[in-house]
Amino acid sequence: MISNCQVCDSENLIFADTGANGGYGPELLPGTGVFKPARFRIVVCEKCGFVHFFVIPEDLDKVKKSRRFRSINELR
Ligand SMILES: [Zn+2]
Repeated sequence: MISNCQVCDSENLIFADTGANGGYGPELLPGTGVFKPARFRIVVCEKCGFVHFFVIPEDLDKVKKSRRFRSINELR
């Protein structure tokens, strides 16, 4: 997680945890389960509005174990 905005370095950050796989929306963290898929932690800078996306720490293993996610080295 971060304690400062990546754009303006402000420490005034707020966050919310939210689902990543909407019922009618895109599956943004695919392969992380049907009943309890991995969730995002959205961190917003109150000063500049920049939005930072993270997988919430307790769900990170679900993403790492998902067969839909591959190493970026496969693209190199
Ligand atoms: Zn900022």
